[in-house]
Amino acid sequence: MDRATRIAIVGAGIAGLTAAGLLQQQGYGVTVFEQAENFSRIGAGIILGASTAKVMRRLGIEDVMVRTGIKPDAFVSRDVASGAVLNEFVFDAVAERRFGGPFVNIHRADLHRLLVSRLKPGSIRFEHHLAGLDETGDGVRLTFVNGARVEADLVIGADGIRSVVREAIVGRATPRYVGKVALRAVFPASRAVGVPIRDCTKWWGEERHLLSYFMTERRDECYVMAAVPSDAWHADSPPGPGSREDFLAAFPTAHPDLRALLEATDNVSLLPICDRVRNDVWSAGRAVLMGDACHAVRPFMAAGGSMAIEDAAILARAIAACNSPEQAFHVYAASRIPRVGDVQRISAENSWMKLPGDTSWFFGYDPFSDALDQAA
Ligand SMILES: Cc1cc2nc3c(=O)[nH]c(=O)nc-3n(C[C@H](O)[C@H](O)[C@H](O)COP(=O)(O)OP(=O)(O)OC[C@H]3O[C@@H](n4cnc5c(N)ncnc54)[C@H](O)[C@@H]3O)c2cc1C
Repeated sequence: MDRATRIAIVGAGIAGLTAAGLLQQQGYGVTVFEQAENFSRIGAGIILGASTAKVMRRLGIEDVMVRTGIKPDAFVSRDVASGAVLNEFVFDAVAERRFGGPFVNIHRADLHRLLVSRLKPGSIRFEHHLAGLDETGDGVRLTFVNGARVEADLVIGADGIRSVVREAIVGRATPRYVGKVALRAVFPASRAVGVPIRDCTKWWGEERHLLSYFMTERRDECYVMAAVPSDAWHADSPPGPGSREDFLAAFPTAHPDLRALLEATDNVSLLPICDRVRNDVWSAGRAVLMGDACHAVRPFMAAGGSMAIEDAAILARAIAACNSPEQAFHVYAASRIPRVGDVQRISAENSWMKLPGDTSWFFGYDPFSDALDQAA
C-alpha cells in the first residue's frame, strides 16, 4: 500500500508498539493512541521465544533486549509435591542456532521502553481513550473520550482484551473468566538467598501451576506467577493486592524448594485470568485487530505476547505487500489464524513443555521468512 497511507494504532501495548516500529521502518506515517497518561515500571515479567527475537532483531533491539533481560539456561518442569523434574529444556547455543534466536525473560516495562525507543518522537498520543470508530467512505474517523477526533486511512486495534476496536468489528462480548486467579510477585532476589531457584521453572500441580524466573542477567529480580482455581472472581473483577499467605495457601503440598520460594515472595498482586472464545473475524472495512484485542489466550503457554509480536510482523508485511486494506487484512488473517489457533488450543490445555516434546514449530518460526498466505 501507498506509503502516504495514514495509519492509526489504538493501544501502546506490546502489539501496538511493535507494529508501529515495523511500519515506521517501512516508511509509513503511524500514530499510536494510548488511553494511559504515561508508562510506568509496573507489571511483571514476560517470557519471549525465538520467534519474537527475530522481530526485535528487525527493529534493531535484539541485543539490548538480551542484555536488559536474561537468556535462561533452561526451562525446567517440576512436580509441585514431589519436586521431581519432569522436563528440562536446555536453551544453549545449539538450541539458539536451531531456533534462529534466543529465549529471553524480561520485565515488561523494560521491553516497552525498548520498543518505544524505536519510534519517531511524538508518535504516541497519551490520554487518548478510544470511544468509537466510524467509516467515512474513504477513511475512518476515530473518536476519543477526551473529545478528540482523528481521521485515518487504516485503524489497527491493538487495544487489548477489552478492545473497543474489536467491539466495532465483531460486537460487544465480555471476556471469559477461565476460573483461575493469577497471583503475581516481583521481588529482589536478595529475599531468596539460599533458595535453589533455577533461571526458569514451571511447577505443575493439581489444577494449578506456578512459574518462576529471573528477569535480569544479574539474577537480582525475581518474578513468580501462579494460576490457581477460584470461584470468587469474575471477568470484571478489578486486579487487587495479594499476600505471601495467598501463595502459601494455594500450594499446601509444596515441595521444600517451592515452599522456600513462596516464603520469599513479596509485592504480591492478584488478577482474574480471562481469555476470549476463538473468533476468526479479524477485520472489517478499514479496521483490523491484533494481539489480545484479536485473540486473547490464557497465559498458560506464555505465548500471548509472542503472538502479538508475530502479528505485528505479518501485518506490517501484508500492508506493505498489498494494494488495499481489504487484501492486506485477508492475507494477514489467513497467514496467522492457523498458528494462533494452535496456540489458543495448547494454552487452554495447559500442557506446553510439561514433558519433553517437539517445540521447533513454535520457537523456530520466522515471521519474516514464512510465505504470506496468498490463498486469501
Ligand atoms: C499473568 C499473565 C502472564 C503472561 N505471561 C506471558 C508470557 O510470559 N509470555 C507471553 O508471550 N505472554 C504472556 N502473557 C500474555 C501477554 O501479556 C499478552 O498477550 C500481551 O500483553 C498482549 O499485548 P497487547 O499489546 O495485545 O495488549 P495489552 O498489553 O493489553 O495492551 C493494550 C494497550 O491498549 C491500551 N488500551 C486499551 N483500551 C484502549 C482504548 N479504548 N483506547 C486507547 N488505548 C487503549 C491499554 O492501555 C494498553 O496499553 C501473560 C498474560 C498474563 C495475564
